[in-house]
Amino acid sequence: MNDLRRRRREGPRSTHNNVVDASAGASTRAVHSGVYKDPVTGAVGTPIFQTSTFLLDELSYAAFERGATRDVPIYSRYGNPSQWAVQEKVAALEGAQSAVVTSSGMSAIAGTVYALTNNGSHIITAYDVYGGTYNLMREDMPSAGREVSFVDATDLSAIAAAIRPETQLMFFESLTNPLLKAPPLREIAALARQHNVLLVVDNTLLSPVNLRPLDLGADVVLHSATKYLNGHSDLTAGVVAGSRKYADRIWAQILRFGGTLESFSCFLLERGMKTLVPRMCAHNKNATALARFLADHQKVRAVYHPSLADYPYRQLKDDVLDGYGGMVAFEVEGGDEDALKFLDRVRVPCAATSLGGVESLVSMPANTSHCSLTTSQRAAIGINGGLIRYSAGIENTEDLIADTARALDSL
Ligand code: PLP
Repeated sequence: MNDLRRRRREGPRSTHNNVVDASAGASTRAVHSGVYKDPVTGAVGTPIFQTSTFLLDELSYAAFERGATRDVPIYSRYGNPSQWAVQEKVAALEGAQSAVVTSSGMSAIAGTVYALTNNGSHIITAYDVYGGTYNLMREDMPSAGREVSFVDATDLSAIAAAIRPETQLMFFESLTNPLLKAPPLREIAALARQHNVLLVVDNTLLSPVNLRPLDLGADVVLHSATKYLNGHSDLTAGVVAGSRKYADRIWAQILRFGGTLESFSCFLLERGMKTLVPRMCAHNKNATALARFLADHQKVRAVYHPSLADYPYRQLKDDVLDGYGGMVAFEVEGGDEDALKFLDRVRVPCAATSLGGVESLVSMPANTSHCSLTTSQRAAIGINGGLIRYSAGIENTEDLIADTARALDSL
């Protein structure tokens, strides 16, 4: 009987992965949580466990017998101390019991959605979620027996109206891309709980420094760690965090999909996350300053940023812990033609897709992320001609503003 009462544990982590008290500040947790204290060498940083497999011993055989292979180093697709270092850090930052690190944001999203829904179930998501997520929901979920309703995530009554007896999951982003809409997560979480539906939040654009969806009532939080968590535009990764119960289910799904992150990328990601807090402070500051500057510029007809007075999703101000991240979107008066010229003329940012790196990046949704839509389809979701997406990096604020001013003035 005792064998059947398996206690769920935090982690997984080895006895050498550092655990920092939850009462410590975010930067202390970001620096120290999960770091592998090597008992042989005393290395201060986590060594790279570049191995696909580990020597079998009594512990591993016992883990096989108990079905607890997630907690013991056996085979790197199952787990590896390099992954555990990342997972412990993510769990500490998001206030979660457990976390899973994966090979990309999309593998985290696909693994989570498959793991937490069944054939015959129903999912509610937003029509303007990240394009890869939208395609997964629209193309793959129906053929896997999951029906999907697409709603406006900022409209609580539309979400409530979409709930059915077979609804199992809601999937929303804490801040959308590129127009920075913020759904009322506290209310959505309460609604989900009331109907016994799980709420999954993609927190990529805000990062746990700015918002912790689990504290607002979400069941699972995930990220494209390719963005702010790693922060250096040099790897692709994803993370999922939540209770050990859900993390175990998602881990098992990722295991079958083969979405593990290999050790060197884990090393880079764990190192990147150590500076997450100071990086986010700089991103927050730069995007807010740019938004203020753009709002007053005569060549700019609209600016989308949560710090501005006309921002409609006011509840975000109460929910955020520090700031709004590094994204700002704006429309130039001269439409797409001038937007292209702007991309060509700025000198500090790189014209590239993605976001969340230390370097500023600029792109146009119309010819990148949203190019498969017609002009009128784009307009219907608020993406008008001349829209530029600016991912503010951590460069000096004055340089970003001077550069933006020069490029705008030249139009
Ligand atoms: N979620 C959001 C909000 C994103 O912006 C992206 C990528 O741009 C993803 C998920 C997918 O992440 P990845 O590219 O790491 O698979």
